[in-house]
Amino acid sequence: MSSHSAASSFSVSGLLAYCRAGFEKELASELDDLAADAGLIGYVRTEPGSGYAAFETFEPVPVIALGERADWRKPVFARQLLPWFDRIEDLPERDRATPLVDLVRGSGQRFSGVVLETPDTDEAKQRSGFCRRFTEPLTRELEKAGALRLGKPGLPELHVMFPDATSAWLATGMKGRCAPWPMGIPRLRMPSSAPSRSTLKLAEAFMTLLSEEERDTLLRAGMRAVDLGAAPGGWTWQLAQRGMRVTAIDNGPLRDTVMATEMVEHLKADGFTWRPQRPVDWMVCDMVEQPSRIASLMAEWVATGRCRHTIFNLKLPMKRRLDAVEQCRELIRKRLASVGPFDLRIKQLYHDREEVTAYLTLKK
Ligand code: SAM
Repeated sequence: MSSHSAASSFSVSGLLAYCRAGFEKELASELDDLAADAGLIGYVRTEPGSGYAAFETFEPVPVIALGERADWRKPVFARQLLPWFDRIEDLPERDRATPLVDLVRGSGQRFSGVVLETPDTDEAKQRSGFCRRFTEPLTRELEKAGALRLGKPGLPELHVMFPDATSAWLATGMKGRCAPWPMGIPRLRMPSSAPSRSTLKLAEAFMTLLSEEERDTLLRAGMRAVDLGAAPGGWTWQLAQRGMRVTAIDNGPLRDTVMATEMVEHLKADGFTWRPQRPVDWMVCDMVEQPSRIASLMAEWVATGRCRHTIFNLKLPMKRRLDAVEQCRELIRKRLASVGPFDLRIKQLYHDREEVTAYLTLKK
């Protein structure tokens, strides 16, 4: 059987997604919508604080039927989204490999690699050492059983997620459809000359919200950028580092390391009323304000051509967070309706706490 036909006939039991602990309710609601959209019949399982949620179908569905709907980029609160095909709750501590290998073999699917992971909770992360140690023996056993063709293009990766010491979810990750990082978390190193940890948030936004091709074409030296709410300068530093000339708007001071790049003009002004004299390539915004106010301002800049692309943060309320995100989407949709088609991508990043980050541009 070719790898393509093997993948097409492979059946799954639903969708498994990871999130920041505390956002399971929002994630579950998004999974419900996604499943309804894909015509799946079943229910969502989740527990508050667990860092994940899963949609379980009443009947197995061919993975191919999920198509592009099972794309991790769509749900705002999902760091990762994977079709799952089996689950085990009584793994023996002395030999976890044998039952896992049996389940994988039973699925009839072959994989190109293995990713062992846990949800992102303090309790579950204690098992990350176990995941590292267990990867090699499990890989060996799966190879012996004929379930692995290491590195073979066109085959998905096997994800084994351990919510606790004796349970595991088995899921399939197809390149391009799922987040390319274990646990859905891009590992970014804090650059020593960056002024604040929030610089990592913009770096992660570029990695998560833009494709590789977009990063190559849209983030280029010589471009002009504006940073609204820039102090102490983490996001400005990130843009300057890529060779962009940045106008940084904030009443607060920027760190010396940011000004030392000589790519930055600092203006003490109000980010809500200040406008550039000429259009810029990028505007980024991290002002702490009502999300609806930020969304309206972003839509206004894009609608009037003041910037071609924008990345911005939306601080979420404590309750009804999904509603707040939807309200922002709606405000942007209304403002841009008469302007033209647009691309709006919203994600809760690993570096986002009570907030989400968005990218907005007009489609060409
Ligand atoms: N992105 C920054 C970084 O990486 O260092 C951190 C920005 S901090 C979360 C928010 C900033 O927005 C504060 O420095 C605050 O002074 C600024 N701010 C809030 N309201 C503003 C306004 N109306 N105009 C300009 N700046 C504003």
